[in-house]
Amino acid sequence: MRDVDAKDSRLPLPSSAYPMTTHGVPFLDLGGINARFRAEFVAAIGGVLESNRYLLGSANAQFADDFSKWIGTRHCVPLANGLDALRLTLKAWLSLGRLKAGDEVIVPANSFIASALAVSDSGLELRFADVDASTFCISAQTVEPCLTERTRVVMPVHLYGRLSDTAPLRALCERHDLLLLEDAAQSHGARVGGTAAGALGDAAGFSFYPSKNLGALGDAGCVTTNDEVLADRVRMLGNYGSLRKYEHDHLGVNSRMDEIQAAVLRVKLGSIDADNERRRQIARFYTEYIAHPDVTTPTHPEEASSHVWHLYVLRARKRTALAQHLNDDGIETMIHYPTAIHLQPPYRASFGSMPLPVSTQLQDEVLSLPMSPIMSDAQVERVVAVVNAWPGGR
Ligand SMILES: *Cc1c(COP(=O)(O)O)cnc(C)c1O
Repeated sequence: MRDVDAKDSRLPLPSSAYPMTTHGVPFLDLGGINARFRAEFVAAIGGVLESNRYLLGSANAQFADDFSKWIGTRHCVPLANGLDALRLTLKAWLSLGRLKAGDEVIVPANSFIASALAVSDSGLELRFADVDASTFCISAQTVEPCLTERTRVVMPVHLYGRLSDTAPLRALCERHDLLLLEDAAQSHGARVGGTAAGALGDAAGFSFYPSKNLGALGDAGCVTTNDEVLADRVRMLGNYGSLRKYEHDHLGVNSRMDEIQAAVLRVKLGSIDADNERRRQIARFYTEYIAHPDVTTPTHPEEASSHVWHLYVLRARKRTALAQHLNDDGIETMIHYPTAIHLQPPYRASFGSMPLPVSTQLQDEVLSLPMSPIMSDAQVERVVAVVNAWPGGR
């Protein structure tokens, strides 16, 4: 075991303004993350109360403006959650005639189920692509064999915060005249060559679920795009298919972002780049100092900015034993995800026998270590020391 307490391995502390656990390490201390903004939240929520506007007011407009500037797209449409961001984009393309029922959408088998549900719910056909073992994401190579003459959309998920290899994916989409819809729910602020997740395709869906890198105090999501026609249609579909009160031009749904959530997200947007940088620092430390023959740490992309480490996911054949060992020492872990999407009950009958070997193997080997921008150096070092002290087993 390496000496993780060596002086040169210490990380600069971000802040000591909040109490730190001396022993246990929570998987994600959401209370601590949000406590940093308490005074600003109270002021922002007070502003909403004073405005007396709880939906579709100035907080939504200002958040959309701030977020689209930060991402670098012309438009941002605030919505109620991330699933709606994906499914309303697909429904908007259907409603605009750019897609038709039965068209196929390619989705990774290794993701949160929302990526697939967005397709199932829209009357479109799912096709699962396997992921690349070194990035955990789909790539042009894994997507190419899934193409048929009915394929119309590719939906890369920037899983665990890592950008999919979008340049080759975009080239493939251009070659085959396909739409590229990013599922950016785990990758707020990831950038490649200066371009952010959310600005790499035709449209993107974001989630602001509380535990995401940019998390609300409840549900929220948005679509980003440069396409004004698409943005207008998504906005309309998310508000009962209506632009003017009681005039309903399309079959819409209710998917509006609360003013309170918009106000809270504007506050947190100011700290997201610094928070992501702290996540990168922790990930670098984990990868540098975890040294165990039965543990495989994740690969890091060439360009550090293209990963925002929503999750730090390692692989171990005896994953359950490792999780138990960490838990015995008060270190919480989680599994993302214990069942690949094509093997979940609603999809198993249709897709369970498809050969998706990497996704199927990952579900048995992945383990997520504690990761958050407010972990202390001591906590990070403790996680490393306890992993390295695991007796192991292949
Ligand atoms: C969280 C998440 C979503 C869905 O977001 P909600 O806001 O919970 O609806 C979609 N895709 C991925 C990959 C996610 O992690």
